[in-house]
Amino acid sequence: RPRPLVAGNWKMNGLKSSAKVLGEIQAGYTPGLKAKVDLAVCPPATLLGMFALMAVGSRIAVGGQDCHAKELGAYTGDLSAEMLADAGATYVLVGHSERRQYHGEKDKDVCDKALAAHRAGLTAIVCIGETREEREAGRTLAVVKKQLRGSVPADSTAQNLVIAYEPVWAIGTGLTPTTADVAEVHGVIREELRRLVGKAEYAKVRILYGGSVKPSNAAELMAVENVDGALVGGASLVASDFLAIAGGY
Ligand code: 13P
Repeated sequence: RPRPLVAGNWKMNGLKSSAKVLGEIQAGYTPGLKAKVDLAVCPPATLLGMFALMAVGSRIAVGGQDCHAKELGAYTGDLSAEMLADAGATYVLVGHSERRQYHGEKDKDVCDKALAAHRAGLTAIVCIGETREEREAGRTLAVVKKQLRGSVPADSTAQNLVIAYEPVWAIGTGLTPTTADVAEVHGVIREELRRLVGKAEYAKVRILYGGSVKPSNAAELMAVENVDGALVGGASLVASDFLAIAGGY
């Protein structure tokens, strides 16, 4: 099994004063926990540089939440993968459902962003997942396969790619799929990765589950086959909850 990764997506939350949360996470990342699980925090871009400096030496990775496909240019308000890397990031989320929903990002855009991440030496956390309507229509597996084929660039390896399966209806709702449903989707993702990244690498690509992960359900979700960690939203803003989730391994 790949070494698990628990990543916190802070979304549009956090001010300079939130450095204390990162400090608490660092303090709680004990040698016992370090031996079991990798941690990453994806704060808003305004905090990325500060968090990366704070995290030096702690083995906690820092990630961006989005990047532009281009390296530089006249794209007001956007940030390139190179800029995130320069600020100290080693990961970047691409294709989060909130980007797909509120910014109209399509699989091709997500693929271009993941390529940009690779160009900058970052690991792309490619997010996929079905909506409630798609699940109710029985289309979950078809949707996830299509998103994977469209969003994962051909240069992907177990080192520069992480997949996050986040059912849209489970994000911020307190709802989670059954462990059987998670096992089914993660199994299909693994099989699809065999085609996309090849026989030598596909088993080592980490597949995270995301959507209402909490200390109370983390151990159960992470025990599922092909679940190699979690992408945590709301609960990652509270150090004790984030650490308890990581301790679920
Ligand atoms: P919640 O953990 O708040 O449901 O958010 C999940 C998510 O979108 C992480 O990227």
